[in-house]
Amino acid sequence: MEIEIATIGGYEEVGRQMTAVRAGDDVVIFDMGLNLSQVLIHDNVETERMHSLDLIDMGAIPDDRVMSDLEGDVQAIVPTHGHLDHIGAISKLAHRYDAPIVATPFTIELVKQQIESEQKFGVENDLIKMDPGETMSIGDSGKVDLEFVNVTHSIIDAINPVLHTPEGAVVYGLDKRMDHTPVLGDPIDMERFREIGREGEGVLCYIEDCTNAGRKGRTPSENVAREHLRDTLYSMEDYDGGIVATTFSSHIARVKSLVEFADDIGRQPVLLGRSMEKYSGTAERLDFVDFPTDLGMFGHRKSVDRTFKRIMNEGKENFLPVVTGHQGEPRAMLTRMARGETPYELDNGDKVVFSARVIPEPTNEGQRYQAEKLLGMQGARIYDDIHVSGHMNQEGHYQMLEALQPQNIIPAHQDLEHLAKYIDLAENQGYQLGRDLHATRNGNLIQLVE
Ligand SMILES: [Zn+2]
Repeated sequence: MEIEIATIGGYEEVGRQMTAVRAGDDVVIFDMGLNLSQVLIHDNVETERMHSLDLIDMGAIPDDRVMSDLEGDVQAIVPTHGHLDHIGAISKLAHRYDAPIVATPFTIELVKQQIESEQKFGVENDLIKMDPGETMSIGDSGKVDLEFVNVTHSIIDAINPVLHTPEGAVVYGLDKRMDHTPVLGDPIDMERFREIGREGEGVLCYIEDCTNAGRKGRTPSENVAREHLRDTLYSMEDYDGGIVATTFSSHIARVKSLVEFADDIGRQPVLLGRSMEKYSGTAERLDFVDFPTDLGMFGHRKSVDRTFKRIMNEGKENFLPVVTGHQGEPRAMLTRMARGETPYELDNGDKVVFSARVIPEPTNEGQRYQAEKLLGMQGARIYDDIHVSGHMNQEGHYQMLEALQPQNIIPAHQDLEHLAKYIDLAENQGYQLGRDLHATRNGNLIQLVE
């Protein structure tokens, strides 16, 4: 059976991930992501109303025109998890393919919300939920199956999809951290990866996320970030002024830890900001997390301002607002608080906890610097980097290669600088660039079996 890989997006940048795998006559697409930084750099761009070709020209969504060179029928579109760089282009591209979108329940729900907010295209692809550990048949040959292997990442319900073909398995490895003690959900299923590496024809190809390939050692478990957060918030137990925390709103495990520790130190947690309400509300509705029944979540400007007024009236020392704005995004809640645009007044000595790392990208770095400066001018004390990455460091990559023993590797999810670090790592393990290690760019086809 012919096996061909189209590396469509995310091979020159972080963002707009998209890869297609053809097995005989059947094609499966993995991820359809958005490169948010290409959108945010323009003022007032509303992607909801924009046409796909304009977004492709901006570098915001994958240029999927290479798909016309792939001779087969798309049978499924499979986003691996709910981060925007993996699902953010579905509302702009999925309608061009007569295929269902297959994903885990939390991811499907986020895809559904995105399709509902789309204003340019009617996206009518079927949405199919599939849980980690489950398998479905692809196409009519009876020889190709899609399996979801449970992985751990900075968002719940993440999987690595595996396409089983007569020539071996194609494992799509974006994005994961090797977490054996996650705060929410099951540990990464390394046992299944080891089985896949040894059964049948083994692994024909491993497509891997290189984000942290330049970092030594092991990425710690989410439990480590949780304990760091516990230590930080418990140290503030006697403080009788304002404490504000921020983190990735899609990081439900982290939000859960913040909510618990706020309670522990005698403060009522409250989630504020549009995306805080969206992700935590969705996770709670789908029973992925148990929040206290009286946990307030407010997204709309008016209800947020009303909550801030209530906090100021009843005393800041009784509350712990968890807000958006960990990267200093100009329109996010924390930045508005820093500019004095909300009823919440910061006083000298008030604490601001960043349970996030600055995404190392000039726009983020500049905006975060500005937000911290503004907070500092109001007397706020900053606690930063209370975080662990959602991506594996070098030792995780070595363990995956050991488990899967892939015949071919395609590094992905980064620019050339980071791909090169993974290439070094893989060459240390006996792979050779141009032979079984394929460095590539957006828009290429790699034929593995002719
Ligand atoms: Zn991700």
